[in-house]
Amino acid sequence: MTGGTAAAPPGHGSAGVRTLANYVAGAWTVPVADETLETRNPATSELLAHVPLSGAADVDAAVSAARAAFPAWRATSPIKRARAVFALRDLLDSHRDELARLVTTDMGKTLADAAGEVGRGIESTEAACAAPHMLKGDNLEGVATGLDVEMVRQPVGVIAAITPFNFPAMIPLWFLPFAVACGNTFVLKPSESDPLTSARIFELIDDAGIFPPGVVNLVHGARDAVGALLDHPEVDGISFVGSASTARLVYRRAAEGGKRVQALGGAKNAMVLMPDADPDLTLHGVLGSAFGAAGQRCLAGSVAVLVGSEEEQDRMRDLLLAGARGLRVGDGADPATDVCPLVTPAARERVAEAIAQVEADGGEILLDGRGDAGPGGALLGPTIVDRAAPDSRVVTEELFGPVLALVRVPDLETALARVNASRYGNASSIFTSSGGAAREYRYGVEAGMVGVNVGVAAPVAWFPFSGWKESLNGDLPSNGADAFEFYTRKKVVTSRWS
Ligand code: NAD
Repeated sequence: MTGGTAAAPPGHGSAGVRTLANYVAGAWTVPVADETLETRNPATSELLAHVPLSGAADVDAAVSAARAAFPAWRATSPIKRARAVFALRDLLDSHRDELARLVTTDMGKTLADAAGEVGRGIESTEAACAAPHMLKGDNLEGVATGLDVEMVRQPVGVIAAITPFNFPAMIPLWFLPFAVACGNTFVLKPSESDPLTSARIFELIDDAGIFPPGVVNLVHGARDAVGALLDHPEVDGISFVGSASTARLVYRRAAEGGKRVQALGGAKNAMVLMPDADPDLTLHGVLGSAFGAAGQRCLAGSVAVLVGSEEEQDRMRDLLLAGARGLRVGDGADPATDVCPLVTPAARERVAEAIAQVEADGGEILLDGRGDAGPGGALLGPTIVDRAAPDSRVVTEELFGPVLALVRVPDLETALARVNASRYGNASSIFTSSGGAAREYRYGVEAGMVGVNVGVAAPVAWFPFSGWKESLNGDLPSNGADAFEFYTRKKVVTSRWS
């Protein structure tokens, strides 16, 4: 079959730059909607592709294909479905480097980070291969005389996944492998900001013929496509990852339509630095968390809570400042780069505006990254802010840029209270050499992913990726056993035989 490109509709696209196609019922399809967006390399501003803004008719085609494929896919044995997912795993593994390069080109993060996210996507695919085991039911013999009860798991139906820009390889792979291994059929709507990795993964799937037509489908687009998926009566379940406000909107609208929904939202993660913390572990962990991927991770630590006397707090501040000054800002494709560009110049502008507000809010800018924006117009250097008001934007809101706010408190109890005041609860870390302090923190902190001497408590595919509070709408997160729970419905059968 042909690759993930389509002839540009008249009036769209320029010579040599492709317009992406949707993938529907096993074929590359030019969307009916003729409006497009551009996706560019954030480091160089090079135009990479035109992204169609699919509408209701395009979504309907993909959902109808998924619905038509569902009965036969559901009837395919779990072992055969797991083998198909395992074949996808092999395909991803043999294209690791190419996919990582594509992530860097389209989204901007460093090659090392991109390789890490592709690796984690492969791990989710591997975890989904446990389907034959995880789909087993339960039974109880003789609940009454001659009466037996068994619980079986069945797929939910058609699942749609709507994913964000910051992990264009990993997050689609949090959903597709688990959903189809459970016997569902699937429609992916990737971020319109960097959809090339998804397009390439579907191209690989198509070339290898891993899934029957209609089992997996790809629809490019933005709000309209999301609205059409949320309102479509034939979509049974929604997996969403994105900002807090969109997650809430998606959760409400999907639930109103009677769909099963998990909507993972934004974050504002704090890292607590105790005076007894190992300086090397702390420096490495905090800088990597705050400035890695230019702060564009849902696990990015953007608040450092310095615990102790004024003198101890100043010592920690100086350590972080010296480390941050040594970070190199540049193109993610350059192996020497520590801090990559933001995803677009508009994103850079938004974060720079938030930095400009810090002083008005009473904070001190100790390190200011608003220098040269680079050839792509999206570079922003590491920025460290001290003594901002507890309710100021830089302390409470997700800026999604390389900005670290220092907050000063006298003891661990006050640190916990400050961290738990956040409306988010995605992740949090503590740096300490005291087992007692670590235990108290892990017991009391209101966050779903906790790092102890680890700055990014990154997803591990066999465990749930478990945000709390506004970081997760719904009951079940992605990955681990919870993924099998989300993508199946339980049926309880009570039998009596004469
Ligand atoms: P976003 O909310 O702008 O977009 C996410 C998806 O929703 C995209 O596919 C987009 O097309 C769609 N969308 C955006 N606005 C919409 C609207 N008004 N109506 C309908 N659909 C809409 O998020 P983003 O900027 O792509 O990603 C960054 C955000 O994602 C950050 O807030 C980050 O914390 C969050 N995130 C969370 C997790 C997690 O596990 N909790 C993981 C990664 C990213």
